[in-house]
Amino acid sequence: MIIQPRIKGFLCTTAHPQGCAQDVENQISRVRAGGLIKAGPRRVLVIGSSGGYGLASRISAAFGCSAATIGVFFERASKKGRTASAGWYKSAAFTRAAHDAGLYASNFNGDAFSAEMKSAVIDCIKRDLGQVDMVIYSLAAPARTLPSGETVRSVLKPIGEAFEGTTIDFNTQQLRPLTLEPAEPEEIADTVKVMGGEDWEDWIKALLENDCLAEGCLTTNYTYLGSQVTWPIYYHGTIGKAKEDLDRAAASVVSALQGVAGKAHVVVMKGLLTQAASAIPGMSVYLSLLFRAMKGAGTHEGCIEQTDRLFRTQLFSGEPLRQDKSGRIRMDDLELDDAIQDYVRRYWHKVNQENLGELTDFEGYRQAFLQMHGFDFAEVDYALDVEPDVPMPLEGVE
Ligand code: NAD
Repeated sequence: MIIQPRIKGFLCTTAHPQGCAQDVENQISRVRAGGLIKAGPRRVLVIGSSGGYGLASRISAAFGCSAATIGVFFERASKKGRTASAGWYKSAAFTRAAHDAGLYASNFNGDAFSAEMKSAVIDCIKRDLGQVDMVIYSLAAPARTLPSGETVRSVLKPIGEAFEGTTIDFNTQQLRPLTLEPAEPEEIADTVKVMGGEDWEDWIKALLENDCLAEGCLTTNYTYLGSQVTWPIYYHGTIGKAKEDLDRAAASVVSALQGVAGKAHVVVMKGLLTQAASAIPGMSVYLSLLFRAMKGAGTHEGCIEQTDRLFRTQLFSGEPLRQDKSGRIRMDDLELDDAIQDYVRRYWHKVNQENLGELTDFEGYRQAFLQMHGFDFAEVDYALDVEPDVPMPLEGVE
């Protein structure tokens, strides 16, 4: 099958197996180039491990620390001539590479919010690893089915007043005005249920009850703060309320981990194009300006550069952590640099159709979007026939 990108709105409904494998290979090379992280963890559970920050974290753990990894994700296998999802191909490529390197890697494909998933992962930890030294929670989900059976959805809306902004259509590259009405109270509460800290607490509680966390175990959860220009759509919006809840959850996880002398950190990562971020209305203009400013300054980072720096200079460096007043580790330092934010603020309201290519790096943003689905890699010949059905070893969930 010849596989080409098929883009609808902010979604790409196809993915390229070889391109996704190339992406994973590039990330592995990036981590390997930095050498072994001697104080790194040896047994790591990554919840949300198939894309964006979760995949990069898994690669940092496996290829930076030689860790055994268990990955949990929600991806689609290839079916009836349709390609699998990008996260499927990337997880399959990661697993092949880990096994080739003699590293333990097992995968769970299903709903991380469910009790069944938690108990299946716990059984696997007990059987294969005994315990884990690190739990990376990197889930970004649109919905959560609660134990009652009710499904609640997260929404990306402002709070209090409407947001007027601009978005860019991937296919036509046209700028379009965007208006988002403020969220209802119930929508805010539901977004906190999905993207807040409750499920992280549930995972840690279940792992502790089953003696799956080693002495000194570390757990992390990623957040985004952004800057003044993104606050109305992000940090002061519904998703920001969910992210605020992570700070509450972190305190509760820290106290739950006392018995094993464990640690819990909320880590502020930089804004990047991932599957989850591509769904945030209005982020395309901000990220295109940001990419332009950061590439110009030579400080641009992708997910793997962020997690590699997090592991090497913060979590496992032995040096004091770069934490803010709320105790969060800050990896958004380069994004929030004054000169970078000055550039973004100066042009935020000035971007238009004529100057898009000049003021912003929309081209780089578009390439990041295509590469996220395995397209636009120079090393891959997209004219060749490829098999869309790529096998992946999976553990069962009852
Ligand atoms: P992503 O979309 O790339 O990855 C999300 C992961 O969650 C995938 O592995 C997906 O399979 C998994 N997932 C979703 N629903 C699931 C379910 N029900 N069960 C099991 N797995 C499920 O997202 P990302 O941007 O890497 O986000 C990860 C975390 O990083 C989020 O907390 C996000 O808020 C945070 N973050 C993102 C950015 C950014 O700019 N992208 C910045 C800072 C922090």
